Amino acid sequence: MSDNNRLRIAVQKSGRLSDDSIALLKAIGIKLQIRDRLLIAHSTNQPIDLLLVRDDDIPGLVMDGVVDLGFIGENELEEKMLERQAANKASGYKALRRLDYGGCRLSIAVPNEFDYQGVQSLVGKKVATTYPFLLERFFKQNNVSAQAVMLTGSVEVAPRAGVADAICDLVSTGATLEANGLQEEEVIFRSKAVFIQRSEALPAAKQALIDTLLPRIDGVIQAKE
Ligand code: ATP
Ligand code: ZN
Repeated sequence: MSDNNRLRIAVQKSGRLSDDSIALLKAIGIKLQIRDRLLIAHSTNQPIDLLLVRDDDIPGLVMDGVVDLGFIGENELEEKMLERQAANKASGYKALRRLDYGGCRLSIAVPNEFDYQGVQSLVGKKVATTYPFLLERFFKQNNVSAQAVMLTGSVEVAPRAGVADAICDLVSTGATLEANGLQEEEVIFRSKAVFIQRSEALPAAKQALIDTLLPRIDGVIQAKE
């Protein structure tokens, strides 16, 4: 078992948030030795361990109190919060800082030949997405009766494959949409990476360590502005 006195931080193992999150930890003075394919990495100069996992697992790890802190995209955090609320699972967390990376938007896009006249054009349609809770919230807020179809990958090919009429997916440049003959119509959520903490109070020593990290994070963010 791991040492409970060490601060545990969940970071995406390999993906769009990994490099920036690890660079930020290093920039605030945490020395890390990350070896390939290991779940845990220990800091060599601070009582801190990193848990390297899929980003989808990070909100749950924080909400269940398995880790003390995590770096996660707001899109994934909000989706998992809604999912866990619906299942009556713990969904609390504290947002410590909004970060300057991981920027993207969750958007509804339709095939170029779709005659889109506003959200009501989606009534009765199937929309493929990896974020069904965020999408269904959008439908509800806009009084649209449409169906979210869950796909964990290849969302952008769903219309061509005849699986859905439209999609709701993460966009940054829009190049993927264009390459798949899709037109972005509605932005339903704007996201950046955030640094979060479990909601239950931590032992004083751990909280004191976190309180020394935050001003250093602010310093790194300001230096880049
Ligand atoms: P994992 O294997 O960890 O589950 P993943 O494929 O779900 O990885 P990534 O593609 O690495 O995840 O994206 C992680 C996060 O990066 C997204 O949830 C989002 O917050 C952010 N992000 C920023 N830009 C984009 C983009 N253009 N497409 C997708 N995600 C983006
Ligand atoms: Zn993921």
